[in-house]
Amino acid sequence: LTVGGLLENAVTKHPDNDALVVPYQGVRWSYAELGRRATEVAAGLVALGLEPGDRIGVWAPNMAEWVTLQFATARAGLILVNINPAYRLSELEYALNQVEVKALVMVPSFKSSDYITMLTELMPEMACANPGRLAAQKIPSLRWIITLGETPAPGAITYDDLKSRASDETRARVTQLAGLLQFDDPINIQFTSGTTGRPKAATLTHHNIVNNAYFTGVQMKLSHKDRMCIPVPMYHCFGMVLGTLCCVAHGATMVFASAGFDATASMDAVEAERCTVFHGVPTMFIAALESPGFKGRDLSSLRTGIIAGAPCPAELMKRIMGEMHMEQITIAYGMTETGPVSTQTSVDDPVHRRVETVGRVLPHTEIKIVDPMGRIVPRGEAGELLTRGYCVMPKYWNDPEKTAKAIDEARWIASGDVAVLDDEGYFQIVGRIKDMLIRGGENIFPREIEDFLYTHPAIEQVEVIGAPDEKYGEEVCAWIKLHEGQSVTAEEIRAFCKGQIAHFKIPRYVRFVDEFPMTITGKVQKYVMREIMAKELA
Ligand code: ATP
Ligand code: MG
Repeated sequence: LTVGGLLENAVTKHPDNDALVVPYQGVRWSYAELGRRATEVAAGLVALGLEPGDRIGVWAPNMAEWVTLQFATARAGLILVNINPAYRLSELEYALNQVEVKALVMVPSFKSSDYITMLTELMPEMACANPGRLAAQKIPSLRWIITLGETPAPGAITYDDLKSRASDETRARVTQLAGLLQFDDPINIQFTSGTTGRPKAATLTHHNIVNNAYFTGVQMKLSHKDRMCIPVPMYHCFGMVLGTLCCVAHGATMVFASAGFDATASMDAVEAERCTVFHGVPTMFIAALESPGFKGRDLSSLRTGIIAGAPCPAELMKRIMGEMHMEQITIAYGMTETGPVSTQTSVDDPVHRRVETVGRVLPHTEIKIVDPMGRIVPRGEAGELLTRGYCVMPKYWNDPEKTAKAIDEARWIASGDVAVLDDEGYFQIVGRIKDMLIRGGENIFPREIEDFLYTHPAIEQVEVIGAPDEKYGEEVCAWIKLHEGQSVTAEEIRAFCKGQIAHFKIPRYVRFVDEFPMTITGKVQKYVMREIMAKELA
């Protein structure tokens, strides 16, 4: 089955069900309507001369057109490249050149006019009229810029213009393509979050993401009656696989509350649309729980969802189950490179498993945990987690070196995460190898200290890192955000730890902060925290 085929199935089975609701754009489309729109846009893209396998970037926040484009590009066999809307010029250039995009869809109002000028100066039509210019282009592969909304400058075409280029001939071509596309064709390039360094261009096939979207929905018992609020970004697999594609696989309704994440707008949308499902990275759930007026809300429609992307502290899980009415919340673990999920709890798992573990391996997927020599460790022991199966990407785009480093000959992909497998097949993520700190020869995973500190009533969020230290190599450093109106001293934090966790795990440095350096996907960038501490302590 292909991504386009998945939508066709939903259109056939649930034509009148709400497919997409975007209150801030006034959008409410049925599956029949979404299917019709996707076909028109696909036919428009074919009319531009784009061919199967060509890359097309989408540089936009969550909006209705994103969903149309997701399925239109799939129908036309184009490889959709998700571009983070927060990217600055140099990052955009890097990303577009890395994958050689032929077309870029963007929102003009979204970026400063400089960007538009820069991009439209590189316009294909102008370039064609003036071939000398092509060589000077910063993004030589780029032929088309399609703006969502008004055209900001000559050269770009509008989304309406794109749709109007559809003809009977190109529509017929789209129908023909549906029969030609193969399930193992690449369909999507996603950049990893950049939590540990420069984002990598994970290349995903229909097979990778169609199956992942389906199985993750099964773990939540998703049906066409569910309505999912999707606050996670579409330019990340959390939004476009576990969000939209998962809904389409099960005929459920997708709801976008806002363009970028907004806790209050999300909770408003859950109430107004009676959403049953809510996804997020841990920081989004924290923001929702702490949003103004949260206590007075009627969230009784909520049932399940996925929390993933970073460690999910047990205390937070309990609050989500209780205060957000999400008794059936699931935890998933995975990475962009594995389409993305490889383990997930199921709504049928006992509560303590759903609070303390990332669940069991998804169907048709294998996981092994190995020591630094690559030998499988006994159950209950920690080691690096490797995944193999349908969900594993074939490669990083245009980067055989990084691909070979990540995926071995037997097709196991290394995660860089340390995990433990228990007797009943549940996994626990101990932490990232890169985030582990070594203090005087003791390996310390920040997760353990964080989990303990979350039991302190004044702490809203805590992130632990290693800070350089002459004597011990590294010292434990905790950055803490307190609940509003609370005040605690570093001394009190250390006293709280004393006798409760090993002395070498007690934070030597405690810093109170209002925010953390974060990727736009809402993940804390510990490497940035480490850089800041190293500079200050130098
Ligand atoms: P980059 O690879 O660019 O540094 P990234 O690894 O954060 O960024 P993603 O692919 O978005 O990019 O995230 C995958 C990573 O997120 C995993 O390798 C893991 O470290 C972390 N992660 C995902 N889910 C969980 C979870 N449930 N618990 C703990 N960590 C998780
Ligand atoms: Mg990664």
